[in-house]
Amino acid sequence: MIKTKISLQTKTQSFTHYDAIKHQYRGNIIDKPIALILILILLPCFLLNITLAITTRRNLFSKKYKTDALSRKVTLHRFSCGLWVKTAVLFDICLGKISFCGIPLTHRLSPDMQFYVLNQIKCKTGIFSLYDLHLKTGITVMTPEQLLEQQLNGNLANYLALMSKSFISIIIYGQKIKRLKESKYLSLFGLDVKNTSMAEAVEWITCSDIPKSKTKIGFFINAHSINLSISNPTFFNQLTKADALFADGSGMRLAAKKAGFLLNGNNNGTDMLPHLCKKCVESSQSLFFFGAKPGIADQAANELSAQFPGLNIAGTEHGYRGTESTQKIITTINKSDCDILLIAMGSPIQEQWLLEHRDQLRCKTALAVGGLFDFYSGSISRSPMWLREIGMEWIWRLMQEPREKFNRYVIGNPLFLYRTFLLGSVNTGVK
Ligand code: UDP
Repeated sequence: MIKTKISLQTKTQSFTHYDAIKHQYRGNIIDKPIALILILILLPCFLLNITLAITTRRNLFSKKYKTDALSRKVTLHRFSCGLWVKTAVLFDICLGKISFCGIPLTHRLSPDMQFYVLNQIKCKTGIFSLYDLHLKTGITVMTPEQLLEQQLNGNLANYLALMSKSFISIIIYGQKIKRLKESKYLSLFGLDVKNTSMAEAVEWITCSDIPKSKTKIGFFINAHSINLSISNPTFFNQLTKADALFADGSGMRLAAKKAGFLLNGNNNGTDMLPHLCKKCVESSQSLFFFGAKPGIADQAANELSAQFPGLNIAGTEHGYRGTESTQKIITTINKSDCDILLIAMGSPIQEQWLLEHRDQLRCKTALAVGGLFDFYSGSISRSPMWLREIGMEWIWRLMQEPREKFNRYVIGNPLFLYRTFLLGSVNTGVK
C-alpha cells in the first residue's frame, strides 16, 4: 500500500506516469466485517423481508442501476418488499462490489479528474462520502474535489468517523433528499425564505444596480429567530419587511424538509463571509463592520484583510455605544461610502436597528449577522468540522457560553422541534 498523499490539485502533472503509482484508499478493509455484523443485527428484519417476498411470490431482491462520480456503473440490491429495503446493499458490500465509504454516487467529476482518479487511486464506489455528507448538511466551504481529496487521504480512524457521521446524518436528515421539492422561495413559519445556494446568496448581496439610498436588507433566520418571531409578533413583522431571508442552520433544514422542500444551502453568515470577501475583492466593493464588543470588529477586519489581500473594509464601529450615538454611527457608515454593511448585535436588536434606520443608510446592502465578528476576530472559536458536518454546531456554542446560550439552545431547540414536528407550524405559519 502506497501512503503518499493524494493531491487532486496537481493532477495534471501526474498524467504522464499515472500507471507507475496506484494509491489505495484506506479503510475498505473493515467493510466486510462491519457489513457482516450489521447483517447479523438486522437478521430478523431480513427474515421478515424474505418471508414477505416468498409469500407474495415476488423476487427476493430488486436491482438499482447507478453511475458513480467516475462514470462507473454500479448495481445496488434492495429487498423487493418489507422493512428497510435498502439495507440489502450490505450484501453488495460483503461481496466487495461497493464500499461503505468511497467514490460518491451523487455527482459526476469533470472528465479530466475522472481520468486522474481512475488511474491513480484504487477506490470503489461508496454509499457514503464526504461530499454526500456536506451535501446533506448544506455545508459549502469546500469544492467536491477538495472533499474527495480529503476523504481519500484519510486513515482508518477517518474512515470510521465518516461512516459514523453518515449514519448520524441519515438518522437526523433522512435519506429521501431526491423526493423533496425544489423551489426558489419557501414559506416556512409564515415567512418567505429565499432558497439559495451559497453562491446565489453572495450574488444577491453583491449584485445591485439600485442607488445606495435604497439599501436592500437581508436577514439570516435560524431556529432561534423563528422562536423569537413566534413569541414576539413585532419581530415577526420586522422579519417580513426584509428583502431577503436566508435559511441558516440545521433547524431550518429540518423545517424545510418537514414542509417537503430541499434547502439548497446552509446560508449561515459565518460560512458565507469568506465567499463574500472574495467576491468583494473581485468586484471592488467595500464592507463596513458594525457591532460586537469594542475592538472585536477591528480585529475581525484585520484578520480578514490579511486573509484576502485587496479587501476594502471601509470602517468599523462597536455595538455598545447606546442609542444616543446612533446618528453619529449612521454618519460614520455613510461617510465611509461602503457598499455592504454587516451589523452584528444579535437578534432582535440588529434587525430592529436596520429596519428603523434603513432610509438613512447609504449603502447597497445591509445584513444582520449575529456573532460573526466574534468568530472572525478569534475571540470565540468555531466548532470543529465534525460537529458542523452532523448539524450540531450549536452544542459547541452552548459549551462556550453555557449561561448566555442556555435558553436559546436547551429550551429553544426542543421548542423549535415541537413547533415543527408536532404543532405543524412550519407549513401553516400558525403561531
Ligand atoms: N452585541 C452588540 N451590542 C449589543 C448586544 C450584543 O454588539 O447591544 C453583539 C455581541 O457582542 C455579539 C453579537 O452582538 O457579538 C451577538 O451574538 P449572538 O451570539 O447573539 O449572535 P448569533 O450569531 O447567535 O445570532
